[in-house]
Amino acid sequence: MIHAPISEELFQRAQHSIPGGVNSPVRAFRAVGGNPRFMVSAKGPYMYDEDGNRYLDLINSWGPMILGHAAEVVNEAVIKAIPNSLSFGAPTRKEVEIAELIVSMMPSIEKVRMVNSGTEATMSAIRVARGFTGRDKIIKFEGCYHGHGDSFLISAGSGAITLGVPDSPGVTKGTANDTLTAPYNNLEAVQTLVDANKGQIAAIILEPVAGNMGLVTPAEGFLQGLRTLCDKEGIVLIFDEVMTGFRLSAGGAQQLYGVTPDMSTMGKIIGGGMPVGAYGGKKEIMEFVAPAGPVYQAGTLSGNPIAMAAGMAMLTYLKEHPEVYTQLEQTSGNMVAGMQRNLQKLGLNYTINRVGSMFSIFFTDKPVYDFESAKTSDTALFGRYFNGMLQRGVYLAPSQYEALFVSTAVTEELVEQYVQASFEALQEAVQQ
Ligand SMILES: *Cc1c(COP(=O)(O)O)cnc(C)c1O
Repeated sequence: MIHAPISEELFQRAQHSIPGGVNSPVRAFRAVGGNPRFMVSAKGPYMYDEDGNRYLDLINSWGPMILGHAAEVVNEAVIKAIPNSLSFGAPTRKEVEIAELIVSMMPSIEKVRMVNSGTEATMSAIRVARGFTGRDKIIKFEGCYHGHGDSFLISAGSGAITLGVPDSPGVTKGTANDTLTAPYNNLEAVQTLVDANKGQIAAIILEPVAGNMGLVTPAEGFLQGLRTLCDKEGIVLIFDEVMTGFRLSAGGAQQLYGVTPDMSTMGKIIGGGMPVGAYGGKKEIMEFVAPAGPVYQAGTLSGNPIAMAAGMAMLTYLKEHPEVYTQLEQTSGNMVAGMQRNLQKLGLNYTINRVGSMFSIFFTDKPVYDFESAKTSDTALFGRYFNGMLQRGVYLAPSQYEALFVSTAVTEELVEQYVQASFEALQEAVQQ
């Protein structure tokens, strides 16, 4: 049994001065029960908390630590950049170099603008798409997360053509009305929305592999179908690759599936652990961004030299080491194969979805291909499994509706530990 009294005390204290005790909601463990662990350090596959407990980390800061924690290539670049000042507010060589590198890696990107988070990237991308098309509405998919911008915090209406309803107080009806939603993997629903809003849709935005309702893969022909529809209707197709970019391949999901969107948004891995996001796409669209064009978007700390040093080191490494993706594919495949064996031994029939180094185990025996089917999962069971894993020193995403992110620091031995811990935690969780 792992005890964490110092974390518990810190969490109590945190609630007096921070809303809910955390700076981002999922960290609070509300979906799984129990107290969050306060981390002090991490190296390779392991994180260490305030109480000195060690965890095998399978979230990796929600993706960025694809090479494991405190990777030397990234840390050295940061340390080298620090003495030259933490910020200039003027252009630097590094920004030119990282832009060229991103253009060379991501198939859809001819020009790119650096920002400070994934949220900023998606907010800016839809503003540019609206400026470019002169249209107001956007289509997003139920269960896809695009950061906390107002336009994206919209759940499904009752029917496919009904207007969006805000998911969060503080999002105005006006904003919600401009966001239409469709079920993931449902091309017909998208076609219906487009027909009912002829000439009014600026952009269709989606996670090309969805990671924010648990891992959901695009059905055969879904991405290509959206591409064809957008071409026909003059709609800007935006792939939100904040999670999948530089993870599913060096060129993201767009390279893996061979479908090129008009614009892409990036984050997470792009900063190597520093707060960085980016959006980019076709020249003719990106030329609308100020000061080249009329769509305003700016940032005091955008292109920050320390963040660029970290991102540059990370992306350069990934570009020059394609074997990273072969290794991740193998490790993740072995983890899932081990889980399948566990399920079989325990007589359970749960659904596992995986693409490359992202995967989710859904506690349902139904196939999961959109948000409705994802919601058939037994989340109470997931909570017990999560806590069982935590007790065994394995740190999973604290929600059924998240993917796991595997890093290159996960060895075959650690795969075995994960599989064994999962067997025990699962057995316990189903018995309770
Ligand atoms: C994490 C994420 C975002 C938001 O990025 P932040 O850096 O947290 O603002 C946007 N889109 C997707 C697909 C994400 O996974």
